[in-house]
Amino acid sequence: MSLVKKIQLTCPHCGEDFEAEIWETVNTSLDPDMFDAVRRCEVFKVTCPRCGESGLLERAFLYNQMQDNYMLHFLPRSANDEEFEQILRFYSGEDSDNLLSSLIRSKKVGEVRIVRTIPRFLEKLAILDAGLDDRVVEIEKLFTWLHISDKDETFAKRKLESYFVKNEEKDSYFIVFVDLETEEKLSAPFSQELYDTMFQIYSQEIRNSEKPDVIVDENWARQFLEKSRQEPHQES
Ligand SMILES: [Zn+2]
Repeated sequence: MSLVKKIQLTCPHCGEDFEAEIWETVNTSLDPDMFDAVRRCEVFKVTCPRCGESGLLERAFLYNQMQDNYMLHFLPRSANDEEFEQILRFYSGEDSDNLLSSLIRSKKVGEVRIVRTIPRFLEKLAILDAGLDDRVVEIEKLFTWLHISDKDETFAKRKLESYFVKNEEKDSYFIVFVDLETEEKLSAPFSQELYDTMFQIYSQEIRNSEKPDVIVDENWARQFLEKSRQEPHQES
């Protein structure tokens, strides 16, 4: 079910105190109208009734695309470590007294991911909508980074974050590298061919992982490949 909660806010623009209704959880199986609204970030948007100023408010939100067995938990960066650990334990299935947690552990409820920022939240949905596995996408991002770094030493030294992005106009996908210091953006095409190859090589190993992969990011890909290199594949 989808839930709305009332919270008290102060407008940073005009100082007005007001009550806002925010979404705590959305289940698109029960509220199909919310499918696009979530992608337009409407669940994070709040508007001041006095001055009309609006912005995105980062706070805990659970997105459940039940028809596809997919859950995305948004935990804002303002949440403390304890809260984060608790949620991580829960979704990793280590909360053994809890039925949902044990179902997640046995991978009976599909995929669950935790993200901490709105751009990451939107990226996960873009990957989901493209029908891709985010773990394979992270591996492809890493290989793309290695490939560019090989030819360009300065690229390798930059502090970058990478995003999977859909270009709606061209109906094509890109990997966008954002320089955290200069905010410069560099994009590389996302190759479906490379994805298919990676999928063939790694999907079995991904499925065989003991624990659910709750946090899937660049670090995940690095650790996965590290482990994969130590345990050679069984050729079949
Ligand atoms: Zn205001």
